Amino acid sequence: MTKPAKVTPMLRQYMEIKEQYEDTILFFRMGDFYEMFFEDAVTASRVLGITLTSRSSKSDENKIPMCGVPFHAVSGYLTKMVKAGFRVAICEQVEDPREAKGVVKREVVRVVTPGLVTEEQLLDDKTNRYLAAVSVPRISKKNKEFGISLLDITTGEFLVTERVEIGEVIDELTRMSPSEILLEIGKPEEKNIIAESLEQFLPDVCLTYRPSHTFQLDTARETLLDHFQTVNLAGFGCEDMPYGISAAGALLDYILETQKTDISHVERLVPIDLANVLLIDDSSRRNLEIAQTIVGGKREGSLLHTLDYTCTPMGARLLRRRLLFPLRDVDSINARLMTVEQLFRDASLRENLRDTLSRVYDLERLNSRVVLGRANARDLTAVKYSFAQLPEIKNMLKMFEEGLLKEISDEIDDLSDLRQLIDYGIREDAVVSLREGNIIKEGFNEELDELIAVLRDGKQMILSHEAKERERTGIAKLKIGFNKVFGYYLEVSKGQLANVPDYFIRKQTLVNAERYITPELKEFENKVMGAQDKRLELEYKLFSEIRDKVAEKSAAIIHAAAQIARLDVFTSLAEVARRNRYVSPLVNEGDEITIIEGRHPVIEKSLPPGKFVPNDVHLDQHSEEVLIITGPNMAGKSTILRQTALIVLMAQMGSFVPAEEAEIGVVDRIFTRVGAMDDLRKGQSTFMVEMNETANILNNATEKSLVILDEIGRGTSTFDGLSIAWAVAEDLVEKNGKGVKTLFATHYHELTELSLTHKRVKNYNIAVREWNDAIIFLHKLMKGGTNRSYGIQVASLAGVPSKVVDRAGEILRNIEKGELNPQGEPRIASDGKRYSDDMKKAEEQPSQLSLFGGYEDPVREKINSLQLENLTPLEALNLLFELKNMNK
Ligand code: ADP
Ligand code: MG
Repeated sequence: MTKPAKVTPMLRQYMEIKEQYEDTILFFRMGDFYEMFFEDAVTASRVLGITLTSRSSKSDENKIPMCGVPFHAVSGYLTKMVKAGFRVAICEQVEDPREAKGVVKREVVRVVTPGLVTEEQLLDDKTNRYLAAVSVPRISKKNKEFGISLLDITTGEFLVTERVEIGEVIDELTRMSPSEILLEIGKPEEKNIIAESLEQFLPDVCLTYRPSHTFQLDTARETLLDHFQTVNLAGFGCEDMPYGISAAGALLDYILETQKTDISHVERLVPIDLANVLLIDDSSRRNLEIAQTIVGGKREGSLLHTLDYTCTPMGARLLRRRLLFPLRDVDSINARLMTVEQLFRDASLRENLRDTLSRVYDLERLNSRVVLGRANARDLTAVKYSFAQLPEIKNMLKMFEEGLLKEISDEIDDLSDLRQLIDYGIREDAVVSLREGNIIKEGFNEELDELIAVLRDGKQMILSHEAKERERTGIAKLKIGFNKVFGYYLEVSKGQLANVPDYFIRKQTLVNAERYITPELKEFENKVMGAQDKRLELEYKLFSEIRDKVAEKSAAIIHAAAQIARLDVFTSLAEVARRNRYVSPLVNEGDEITIIEGRHPVIEKSLPPGKFVPNDVHLDQHSEEVLIITGPNMAGKSTILRQTALIVLMAQMGSFVPAEEAEIGVVDRIFTRVGAMDDLRKGQSTFMVEMNETANILNNATEKSLVILDEIGRGTSTFDGLSIAWAVAEDLVEKNGKGVKTLFATHYHELTELSLTHKRVKNYNIAVREWNDAIIFLHKLMKGGTNRSYGIQVASLAGVPSKVVDRAGEILRNIEKGELNPQGEPRIASDGKRYSDDMKKAEEQPSQLSLFGGYEDPVREKINSLQLENLTPLEALNLLFELKNMNK
């Protein structure tokens, strides 16, 4: 900061505060404005699109850039600033300027950062907004562990976990997609390992560097124990997670420093239990379009969007988490499925529940605003309406004597005392502002009632005073009015000025009238105004008391909200199952996956009803472990691959599935590699990305995994690609002696030959019917391989001009006859003759390209035709000589 030579006391104060908040934009409250100075002003004026001025000063060189925003509109500007990735420190005047001696005292009351916003405009009520901290290991070789902690300040959810590799850290973070990530300030190399990857994979996230000591295990632990008021962390099950604790403690420290309010709604630290989670890595999650689409990152078109019939924001957020963390434990999955089934069967219960649930507001976020002291009267009314639904919900669930619905019902505290308190105290028509009165109901507090009476009477007195003065002066049109500058006044129009008596004191002259005051009028005024000030103050105090009482119960509120979320998710899953004709899958520990008449949950919704062609898929560990699926482009290969993965995922999150029947032996991980999609976001070449992902699959898949490979090897030359695809398939079939369940869609028909040598490999194709020169897609999965690509027919369907299509057909026939080599050049033999003459026989074969080129090698052909058992050694030697000559 360039400091001007001479500074006013106010500016000195500014600079002192700014020094402590270097990496923020400081919103400095001055009267009705928040002002920014120096570089902050330059930045803010650019981001906010407001005029940059300068603080007046005698000499030009001392000019200080400044800009400001009006305090009543601050939240809009704050939103803009934070959206642009800045941290904003809000500095308020903390004493009454009228009582201040010298410069008004000011303090930063809150720092708003991308990960720590409670402003509604910035929150999407269907997703959590996480702040994350990552503890990076010291470079020592032994402990390669990373700690990750995540917190949603708006709901109080606080998570912790540890990971061994950086890739896993990225997976976790991309899954939760935090808005801000805290890292330790460190030596450059230490910092770089993680920061670089984060910048690559989460380019929009705000990275905040925090002092090393806050990450130190002892300090971090102390911070956590202090907050939770416990002696250890064993109760949370995270005592043995030093790296996680380091991250969690650093995260909490940051919140305490920036928020400066009670955060008692953050009441537990929850370890993310990966042992019981079906793992889906980042790229698979994106490929399967679980929470958002690949193109455009939209919610619509994702599995989440298709399944979401939740009625509350808490439910919507929980549904999203459940999709991102499906389960592995069969009992837990079946308990969920059983619950969905109960709600699936009882349509009227489901209807009633949905109806009631939709009257529950976002209790989690309301609660956090209450605890943070940011809730207004309308928020409390929303809390009240939400509470009012709780007894009804309990009542609806009372018929269940066991299972999760009973558990939910038992766990809901109906919070009727708080509801009553709010109901007695808070006016439903209250305005947003807490300083303008009209928020507390009459009858709630005696003192307030008295003040209200005085005000009402006072107004009445003033009105009767008007009548009295009219009579006394004979000025028929005398009016009493009020303005902020000099309070109540008497107004006399120009035409009647002659009748104004002596005791009227003139205050203001207008075009058509004069305004006066009288001592008597001022006396009334004092009474009324005094009462008004007292009333505003008292209402605010009473409001704060009610809010504090609600805050005291925040644990019970969060708990009730969590039950509502669970119930909402179950109800939503039952609803979508009913609407879309899903069935309950049989989930067990077995090694088989059998799906009868399975459908793609998202694509079927985009087609007219009944148009989606269902397909059966069976996978086991004996004869159908690796399915090689061939078929022309557009046949439906990718669709069947994805639908299989999605059905497994849905089953393991506890949802019904789009099929007639399904039996799912639980899988531990789902891997997908979908080719042909350039990963622009990462700025890497398709092939490199593809091989990274392939490596990940080969390194981590187990016999319990499900692997989806869609056209791998596309990103390189045909023969490279084919060889890689072949080797990958072979590895998967033989992995750990048991193989991995794999669906392998490919345009390399050669891969179908794998089934000849590997009993666990089976070929399938997607049926196509030829009709003259055109093809019709049947989208039906059939046993057996194919050897035709129909690429030219597909090109024609896609609208490639017929001239080009015809020419392509000609070229293809030429290639097939061997007149052209695969590059489209004429094929000439060494003696200058056209090769094709010699090769006629070989080329008469079907169009399939063999593994080693477009034509048979004559040497090879000769060898193949030999009957070795009939050869004498001499004949063999002669043959060898002949072969050698052939190859010249
Ligand atoms: P491929 O991967 O074989 O090129 P896709 O799976 O991408 O083919 O499918 C192409 C299109 O065909 C899809 O977008 C969808 O509109 C349609 N399709 C695929 N499978 C089916 C099906 N089972 N029933 C109806 N239409 C389907
Ligand atoms: Mg495809």
